[in-house]
Amino acid sequence: MYAYTYCGKGDFRLLDKPRPVLRDSRDAIVRVTLSSICTSDLHIKHGSVPRAVPGITVGHEMVGIVEEVGSQVTAVAPGDRVTVNVETFCGECFFCRKGWVNNCTDPNGGWALGCRIDGGQAEYVRVPCADQGLDRIPQGVTDRQALFVGDILATGYWAAQISEIGEEDTVLVIGAGPTGICTLQCVLLQHPRQVIVCERERQRRELVGRLYPGVLTVGPEEAREFVRDHSSHGGADVVLEVAGGPSTFQLAWQCARPNAIVTVVALYDGPQTLPLPEMYGKNLVFKTGGVDGCNCAQTLELIARGKIDTTPLITHTYPLERIEEAYDLFEHRRDGVIKVAITPRSEK
Ligand SMILES: [Zn+2]
Ligand SMILES: [Zn+2]
Repeated sequence: MYAYTYCGKGDFRLLDKPRPVLRDSRDAIVRVTLSSICTSDLHIKHGSVPRAVPGITVGHEMVGIVEEVGSQVTAVAPGDRVTVNVETFCGECFFCRKGWVNNCTDPNGGWALGCRIDGGQAEYVRVPCADQGLDRIPQGVTDRQALFVGDILATGYWAAQISEIGEEDTVLVIGAGPTGICTLQCVLLQHPRQVIVCERERQRRELVGRLYPGVLTVGPEEAREFVRDHSSHGGADVVLEVAGGPSTFQLAWQCARPNAIVTVVALYDGPQTLPLPEMYGKNLVFKTGGVDGCNCAQTLELIARGKIDTTPLITHTYPLERIEEAYDLFEHRRDGVIKVAITPRSEK
């Protein structure tokens, strides 16, 4: 089968590999019907993910059809349409029982697919801990609607959940990339009084304005003043930092009112400074981290009910055999690209 493979720093190649087989009684084999490219894949390509294992098939955003399951798998069966979770988790350890599945202590726990073990930019993928890692797609929900459930939408949903948003709040979302827009949609589900999106690129600000009437947009230069003018207590009540730019962490806490919650979802290229003397007395609450991606059943339900729609993020579609072109477009942000969908290799 075709599998897009991390061969070394800067070197991804479409290789012909054997189809994966069950290795553990909790595994499932999934035929990939749609996948996508994530910024984290680019981080692997650029060599900035040290735990990524050369030789693995990349890709951790996909949906598909279950082909085969191990003897201990009970939640899904062959023929089921499923979303695949970016995180592998056992469901039984201390962290899993608390819902902190990102820190699952299983050897494959956390982000393994498409990083430490073979992922889904391929025709088939082996999913460990399949009872936890797969969720059935409700009837009437298409692959394109479900594509982001296991990764960026899981992240947005989790970020909005932990941010303790109230109906009187002004919420600032920094970054209107794919994860930023998923986060925005999940923030809107909580009906805060005002939502402001800060984004550097004009095209993306316009997209937000078009898709979500009522949401205000602003560039980073004007953000501090703008947020102050549009909130009741000198700054945003809740800030979600989803941009990960060189100065967006500073912007996040500077735009927050005293005693605000600042949720940092972004992944930075380097360490960030927490200037405690400057922020002394502001009494902020910081929440940080990687998604605890155990909310897919809820987000699928919200998609089925028409409450979440991430399909406008899919701006381009390529078949697997042309994935190289898709990467090139995504990496260089050409042609207004937000997300690329990868369809199975075309029939010859
Ligand atoms: Zn990702
Ligand atoms: Zn666990």
